Amino acid sequence: MDIRSLYQEVIVDHNRNPRNYGELQHPTCFADGYNPLCGDKIKLFLEINEDIITDVKFSGCGCAISTASASLMTDFLLNKTCDQANEMFDIFHDAIVNHNVDGDKKLGKLAVLTGVREFPARVKCATLAWHTLRIALQRELTTAITE
Ligand code: ZN
Repeated sequence: MDIRSLYQEVIVDHNRNPRNYGELQHPTCFADGYNPLCGDKIKLFLEINEDIITDVKFSGCGCAISTASASLMTDFLLNKTCDQANEMFDIFHDAIVNHNVDGDKKLGKLAVLTGVREFPARVKCATLAWHTLRIALQRELTTAITE
């Protein structure tokens, strides 16, 4: 099996059985995301305790790429710090949007999504969950400052 079909299989699996799918009753931060190009919608719920992401869930509906990306992202985020989450946003964004292949080895499981580089119309599907994450984390930050 070549690496491409392996990647394909992981995406199909995460789309069929999305991890961390659902909603949190009392999230510490939340954001909505929408990709008008494809119609993908996502709601992202995070529970952050002392800078650690202790729980994360997403809901919404979208294409296979957007659902698989959200599923893989939430898997990555569990028990990470907000700094680690922001750092991975930058690596992921750079890899998918700017085609920086140097970052691929830092992506771990998320590398399965690097195939979308060849399909510019699908890039926004892959990055939607991450943009939603960034907004959610900024809201958390804003709350922390005003308190
Ligand atoms: Zn999509």
